[in-house]
Amino acid sequence: MSTTAPQKFEFQAEIKQLLDIVIHSLYTEKEIFIRELVSNASDALEKLRHLQLTEKEIYDDKLELEINVTTDDKAKTITLQDFGVGMTRAELIENLGTIAHSGSKAFLKALGEGGQKNTNLIGQFGVGFYSAFMVAKSVKVYSHSWRLNEPGHVWTSDGSGSYEVEPSEGERRGTKIVIELKDDCGDFAEDWKVKEILERYSAFVSFPINLNGKRV
Ligand code: ADP
Ligand code: MG
Repeated sequence: MSTTAPQKFEFQAEIKQLLDIVIHSLYTEKEIFIRELVSNASDALEKLRHLQLTEKEIYDDKLELEINVTTDDKAKTITLQDFGVGMTRAELIENLGTIAHSGSKAFLKALGEGGQKNTNLIGQFGVGFYSAFMVAKSVKVYSHSWRLNEPGHVWTSDGSGSYEVEPSEGERRGTKIVIELKDDCGDFAEDWKVKEILERYSAFVSFPINLNGKRV
C-alpha cells in the first residue's frame, strides 16, 4: 500500500464518544485546551532531554528545547510547536486515535459511572489532547520523531469520527499543532488573550514559552 497518499482512519469507539461530549458540551472554561497542549509539549521536551543523555543520533539535534506559540487573528488560528520527541506515523495513530492514556480513561470511567454532569467531568479529569476540539473546526498535528530514519507526517481531523494521516516534508523535530478556531472562539487567535492565559500556566512549565516571538 502506498504511504504517500492521505490515509483515512476511524477513531476508536471510546474516542468517538469522548469527542462527541467534548465538542457538544457547554463547558465554559474552554481555555484549558492551552494548558493541556502546553503540558503535552512540555512532556515531549522532557522526554527529549532524557534521550539526549543516552542517544547519539537524534534528528535535528541542535534545536532549542522550547515551546513556540503563534496566533493569527486574520486566519483565526493558534499554533503550538515544540521541539520535543515528536511522533512517528505509528505513534500518531496510536497516541491520538486510541484510548491508550490515563486522563481520558479516567474521564470515560467516571462517565460510565454516571454520577455527574458531563461538563463537570471535563474540568475534573481533563481530556488532554482532545480538549482542542472544544475550540477547533479542525486540528492539524505535524510531527517528526527524534528518530533519524522516520519521515514527518501530518494528522488531520475535525473531530467527527475520523482522521487522516499523510506524509509531510520538511518538518523540524517535534510537534506542531495548528488549530483552526470555531467562529465563536476567535479570541484564542488574539495575542493579548493567549498571553494572559500562558502567563498563568508558564510558571508550572520548566521550558521557555514564546508567544509570537516574545518570551512569556
Ligand atoms: P496524556 O498527556 O495524559 O498522555 P493526552 O491526550 O494529552 O494524554 O495525549 C495523548 C498522547 O499523545 C500523549 O501521551 C503523547 O504520547 C502524545 N502526544 C500528545 N501531544 C504530544 C506532543 N506535543 N509531542 C509528542 N507526543 C504527544
Ligand atoms: Mg496530556
